[in-house]
Amino acid sequence: MPAPLAIGLVAHDDKKTALVEWIVAHQGFLKDKALFATGTTGGRILEALPDLNLMRLKSGPLGGDQQLGAMIAEGRLDALIFFVDPLSPQPHDVDIKALIRLATLYDIPFACNAATADLIVAGYEATS
Ligand code: PGA
Repeated sequence: MPAPLAIGLVAHDDKKTALVEWIVAHQGFLKDKALFATGTTGGRILEALPDLNLMRLKSGPLGGDQQLGAMIAEGRLDALIFFVDPLSPQPHDVDIKALIRLATLYDIPFACNAATADLIVAGYEATS
């Protein structure tokens, strides 16, 4: 049996509720995937859906974004869903840029908003 799709999940503070709502709406797709989330984002997701196969990494500002970036560089992450807040400055902006850079460099499906994340799920569903 092939390894489950590995998906990274991150949301900035003002986007965490939107990401949790997106996860709940797509729980049928996500329930058999290997999910990796930054710490606070992962905690919020597990509060809503405790049975998901989700590993919490460090909080983003404490290195969680870099952990996800390392997974991309090592070929251990298939897709990244990162709900970015475009209206608030982030103390770890350099880490965010690095994560986005690696997702781009390694050409993995990468969504920074719900509309694109919907298309990624639809794409996987169409090819499975
Ligand atoms: P958090 O990190 O899930 O620990 O809040 C997200 C981020 O990169 O801001």
